[in-house]
Amino acid sequence: MLKIYSKQRVTETVSSMIRTGRMAHSFLLTGESGTGRMFCAKYIAMSLLCEDVREGVPCGECRQCRRVLKNIHPDVIIPEGTGKTGIYNVETVRERIVADSSVAPNDCTSKVYVIRDCEKLPPASQNILLKAVEEPLPYVYYIFTAHSRSVFLPTLLSRVVTLPVGRCTPEESAEALKEMGSYSDKSIADAVDAFGGNIGSCMDFLEKGKKYSLCAAVRSITDAMLRGDGYTVLRVFSGASEETSGMTRDDLKTLADLTDKVIRDALVLRICGSDAGTEGCYRDGSERLSHTLSVKSAGRMHKALLEAEDMCMGSANINVNAIACLLTAELRTG
Ligand SMILES: [Zn+2]
Repeated sequence: MLKIYSKQRVTETVSSMIRTGRMAHSFLLTGESGTGRMFCAKYIAMSLLCEDVREGVPCGECRQCRRVLKNIHPDVIIPEGTGKTGIYNVETVRERIVADSSVAPNDCTSKVYVIRDCEKLPPASQNILLKAVEEPLPYVYYIFTAHSRSVFLPTLLSRVVTLPVGRCTPEESAEALKEMGSYSDKSIADAVDAFGGNIGSCMDFLEKGKKYSLCAAVRSITDAMLRGDGYTVLRVFSGASEETSGMTRDDLKTLADLTDKVIRDALVLRICGSDAGTEGCYRDGSERLSHTLSVKSAGRMHKALLEAEDMCMGSANINVNAIACLLTAELRTG
């Protein structure tokens, strides 16, 4: 039996569509990276391909389901974008999706295309897909994933069923990580402190991936703030330090969010005392910061960090260095 955390909205909608024989042909799964959008895409694919669907729910164990879960099902196509940025250009969409979909399924009665991270699907490419999505061949299904609906053209959006994929609770996240079996309780607690119900980010932290480096970056920023070392704060936020080299806009947003938590913790420790619970990834730093941080400075920093997160989310071209300068100016403890 498949164990699924906090994805009822997706699973119930899809099961009900399957049960009533009114399966939609196109879905858009929205939500931040790491919350399980790909897992939900696989759930939808399994619902269509499973050999033992009961009450609209796929078994998760048959040959078809297992191949979907392992990303090796010949009828579940996950095209890659092209070039360094992985963008889905017009040629890619035309050849690997539209033309390919006219070929009948290999092994099953349906064929599923999963187009991930549609931030990389520009309007010209969306237009190519429009007709395919509007009048899909009876055996073809499309699943898109994106941060939000805003990346889609209204014409395409009106033809897909949007299902938001949210975080699970921190407790569920800890339970899921524990079940994977290979992490210590302490490291799971650290991961959940930093990334809560985003299981993907927690796993990345535990595997010492990018999220782990970002937590190290937060420690550098906090220590530099305590020393009054604005130069280091600037280096880290602008991607010029070891922990943040190659940082994307998404990473900068995560970094601002993690820094915000450390500052929030410092304020909580200052007001509620050193026994208070914290949720950031650097309790020791928050404790030291709590001795010097005024409520007013904390408020100013929180506002600047939120503003930086908004700028990272915005669709306009932003300059990472400009955000780094803004943050360096505001992250002074005095
Ligand atoms: Zn199955």
